Amino acid sequence: MQERYSRQILFDGIGEEGQQNLQKKHVLIVGAGALGTGNAEILTRAGVGRLTIVDRDYVEVSNLQRQQLYTERDANDRIPKAIAAQKRLREINPYVEVDGKIMDVTVEEIDRLVSNVDLIIDATDNFEIRFLINDVSQKHRIPWIYGGCVSSYGISFTVLPGETPCLNCLLETIPLGGATCDTVGVIAPAVQMVVAYQSAEALKILVEDFEAVRRKLVSFDLWKNEQSAIDVSRLRKEDCPSCGTSPTYPYLSYENQTKTAVLCGRNTVQIRPPKKVNRDLNALVTQLENQGGAIEQNPFLVSYQSEDRRVVFFKDGRVLIHGMKDIVEAKKIYHQLLG
Ligand SMILES: [Zn+2]
Repeated sequence: MQERYSRQILFDGIGEEGQQNLQKKHVLIVGAGALGTGNAEILTRAGVGRLTIVDRDYVEVSNLQRQQLYTERDANDRIPKAIAAQKRLREINPYVEVDGKIMDVTVEEIDRLVSNVDLIIDATDNFEIRFLINDVSQKHRIPWIYGGCVSSYGISFTVLPGETPCLNCLLETIPLGGATCDTVGVIAPAVQMVVAYQSAEALKILVEDFEAVRRKLVSFDLWKNEQSAIDVSRLRKEDCPSCGTSPTYPYLSYENQTKTAVLCGRNTVQIRPPKKVNRDLNALVTQLENQGGAIEQNPFLVSYQSEDRRVVFFKDGRVLIHGMKDIVEAKKIYHQLLG
């Protein structure tokens, strides 16, 4: 068994003891896109004890250029990323307990998601969820590793509760920018660089070598040959609502949660029902059959195509409406189809 890990046990920073520590740890990866699949593969191969990976989307052909766990087949069958990733990770290392969850990370869910978790890796593409991660990490004292990537640019920072500033403290330092991979593109090496930063920090934390953890905010542009590391230690704010002396965890309150979101600038609106539902996909197909569009179904979702619009219904009640950014218009379609 240990032969599998022999090269990293030989490595000074890990050793036998580090490997044993690693095998006792549970990591939550939020997002199974480019950063999520990269981090998940490295930690699975490294032999982390348990890995939970959550994602709300399914595999599309435009993901395959950089989302390393997926295949053409996954895209053709519209397999949810959490399911496709789980399958591939179990093939890579059956000794890791891998749990893929198809879900949107919301205020209602996040507390339950982080129970017994030793580390959270941010692999999302939006700040709504990152601030949720940031607050829950402070509340339960769980370290998390921020990562972002767009174009040939990447950024990463490790938040250690009680020690480093948090994402909220760094609001003015981190570009929250509107550019996303869907508007300006992204190259795989930039993704891999962020994955390398995140997973190296993850290994340090999981083997409990906290002294080695990078304290600086790193960013780079691989096309422009730029690299920087900023010391942000002085930016920790005593009155920060997330990590300060009397925290209120503002992002964990239900009021701050949006139910409808335009996704990652990619011409898609997500609608989430006010309450969680368990949608009967077969009944839905019967209902949609009267409406004249093309229907495809797999065990996890139903896709309905009509003209240039595709509407995807998930079991948990969420609906993705592709081909528009207008929330009002999207809601109309939603109600038309669901009655
Ligand atoms: Zn803070």
